[in-house]
Amino acid sequence: MTYVIAQPCVDVKDKTCVKECPVDCIYEGPRMLYIQPDECIDCGACEPVCPVQAIFFIADVPEQWAPFTAANAEFFADLGAPGGAAKLGKLDRDHPLVAGLPPQPTGSAGPRAESAAERPPGPPVRPVSRRPDARRR
Ligand code: SF4
Ligand code: SF4
Repeated sequence: MTYVIAQPCVDVKDKTCVKECPVDCIYEGPRMLYIQPDECIDCGACEPVCPVQAIFFIADVPEQWAPFTAANAEFFADLGAPGGAAKLGKLDRDHPLVAGLPPQPTGSAGPRAESAAERPPGPPVRPVSRRPDARRR
């Protein structure tokens, strides 16, 4: 299982999630970030900090963004599991699904966009575990 980044990240890419990931498995393309599904440990730390609600547990990906589950995985078809995004830096290509999208409006992609902008400086919001064994039934 894994977490998935979906369309609201496209052209936003503020990288808040990268800072939260304990295993550095969120990789950067030109227009979106991608979670390496084999490296993700399902800790759930990235999901609540995304200002545009682009990150979903794989079983919770909304229907309209279902193709992004495959896009995250296919992004690593050539890369495999590099073992850390920081050492690779920004990669030079997006998945074709993302590369083919028209420019996305930014700043209004989700309900957290405004609240994140208005949030005063303070301690980071602690993540809630979304591991399958911790999920509500
Ligand atoms: S926090 Fe959300 S919008 Fe920002 S880079 Fe991560 S997935 Fe994209
Ligand atoms: S769920 Fe945890 S390990 Fe997976 S991408 Fe998010 S922060 Fe990284």
